[in-house]
Amino acid sequence: MEQALFEQIYESVVRREPKYDGVYYTAVLTTHIVCRPSCRARTPKAGNVVFYDSLEQAVAAGFRPCKRCRPEEGGVLRPDALLASETDKLMEAQFGQKVTLQSLAAQLKVSPFHLQRTYKRVTGRSPAERLDQLRVEKACALLADTELAVAEVGQAVSFRGPSHFAAWFIRKTGLAPTEYRSQIQGGIHHE
Ligand SMILES: [Zn+2]
Repeated sequence: MEQALFEQIYESVVRREPKYDGVYYTAVLTTHIVCRPSCRARTPKAGNVVFYDSLEQAVAAGFRPCKRCRPEEGGVLRPDALLASETDKLMEAQFGQKVTLQSLAAQLKVSPFHLQRTYKRVTGRSPAERLDQLRVEKACALLADTELAVAEVGQAVSFRGPSHFAAWFIRKTGLAPTEYRSQIQGGIHHE
């Protein structure tokens, strides 16, 4: 599971929010119990948690369903949360291309209006905001961990022209891509 998604689901565990109930299942390594993310029991440490996207898998891996939160009963937001998680998967796969609310909605066979409203209700932000954040994360990782030229990093996160990419990157992070890279690499030299 991708780290950002893990953190997003784990945040709902910490806050005991039901948005991922019925979509992901919290398996706790220390107790061998599997819960719905909103379970009211004591919050497990992130390091002791594995998320499964089906209860069957968790049970097959040796986890017992929690008697308190009854993960087998699904969740109130299940259809909405499923749509949001499908949207996340699409954006994760397509952040390097041009993506619009319309193109996402068409792939998910819902109206753009419904997608916008539902996604925001489940995750607290719009698909466009999430896509932007995803591209920032990917661009930062590429600048930090690869030798790719700035223009290539821009292309990898859907920007055709390097100046357009640089302007967007500055707006999001306060730093030019080259500054970001040299700060990160400078940090490594000091260690
Ligand atoms: Zn539970």
